[in-house]
Amino acid sequence: MIMSEFTRRGFLGKTAIAIGSFAALRKVAGEDRSRNDPGPANLGLDGQNPDSIWPPATDSKSLVQNFKYPFSLANKRTYEGGWSREVTVRELPVSKTLAGVNMRLTAGGVRELHWHTSAEWAIMLYGTARITAIDADGKSFVADVNKNDLWFFPPGIPHSIQGLNPDGCEFMLVFDDGEFSESETVLLSDAMAHLPPSVLSKNFGTGEKAFANVPQQELFIFQTDVPGGLEADQKAAAGALGKSPKDFAFRTMAMPSTKQTKGGDVRIVDSSNFKVTTTSMALVTVHPGGLRELHWHPNADEWQYFIRGKGRMTVVATGNKARTMDFQEGDVGYVQKTLLHYIENTGDTDLVFLEMFKSDRFQEFSFSEWLAHTPAELVMAHLKIDKAIYDLIPKNGAVVTPLA
Ligand code: MN
Ligand code: MN
Repeated sequence: MIMSEFTRRGFLGKTAIAIGSFAALRKVAGEDRSRNDPGPANLGLDGQNPDSIWPPATDSKSLVQNFKYPFSLANKRTYEGGWSREVTVRELPVSKTLAGVNMRLTAGGVRELHWHTSAEWAIMLYGTARITAIDADGKSFVADVNKNDLWFFPPGIPHSIQGLNPDGCEFMLVFDDGEFSESETVLLSDAMAHLPPSVLSKNFGTGEKAFANVPQQELFIFQTDVPGGLEADQKAAAGALGKSPKDFAFRTMAMPSTKQTKGGDVRIVDSSNFKVTTTSMALVTVHPGGLRELHWHPNADEWQYFIRGKGRMTVVATGNKARTMDFQEGDVGYVQKTLLHYIENTGDTDLVFLEMFKSDRFQEFSFSEWLAHTPAELVMAHLKIDKAIYDLIPKNGAVVTPLA
């Protein structure tokens, strides 16, 4: 079984896809008359999902809820100044605790001033942006963020994002509620348009005509000029109150890897090093041939975003169920709390992905560490292995294998 599985993957990866012919997917094992698919097929999608088309023999026949959704299929809202698309519980029903919003802003493009009831965690994927907020004491925060930098805005904190030169930015927002939608935020323009002019006049101490030009429809994303220097913006926003002592941004690449092995590395950012956050992240790199080791998370569901490369994941669910799915750049994955999983690099380049959790602390159990710290005789009796095999099991969590 192991050999045929290996042969199948090798065949698909190196032959079928290399020559651009997905016909091989239609009939995989020439000798096995059950393994063909003569009817209609979407060969492009089939080629991206070999483990769904012909599941490994270890997958269960009973069904596991879908845990993949590609951003390619998400509704895109396009504007002068950028665009936005989201994967929420509506697109991926299993993703109850977290939702993702992918957004692009041109240089000068603004995600308008707003706030929402969910917490916003973000990672910059491309380019540079200026972010603004005020803290609970009304003190201002203005910062510029670059590729791999994070930010975090707690619920109700008003904020904005604006693309900078030379080419704006693209980022991934992760909200701590699967029901979240970017369509359900409180926007500056929309709020003003829904208030009587007499009330605005009393509130701001202006004449009733002062806000006659406020847009009657939300801006959401709009194009304006690229802002000037950061320091000038910080000073202007701080006013007499002064800057916020809180840092809502985090420089991921300024810290060393949390764990590095021959197989790859992981950077874990949670409230132990990014004080303001209540959402935790592991940014994982798995080199070709490597494996994000078998593990589970006791405290939260895991929301994944695949940034680069190709991989596959098996989720072992309760009730003797298991499913394997394939992932690539731009896909969202999801694993419910406590379910066993691994992620294997199935491509020829580094696999880079995010593991996100609605928890202020990252927690995981390593499958190998568990077995290594259980009496050997007990484990050997379960698995019908001898002591020599038992002794090979890594003693400390590997995170990414091979260790060396
Ligand atoms: Mn927001
Ligand atoms: Mn995980």
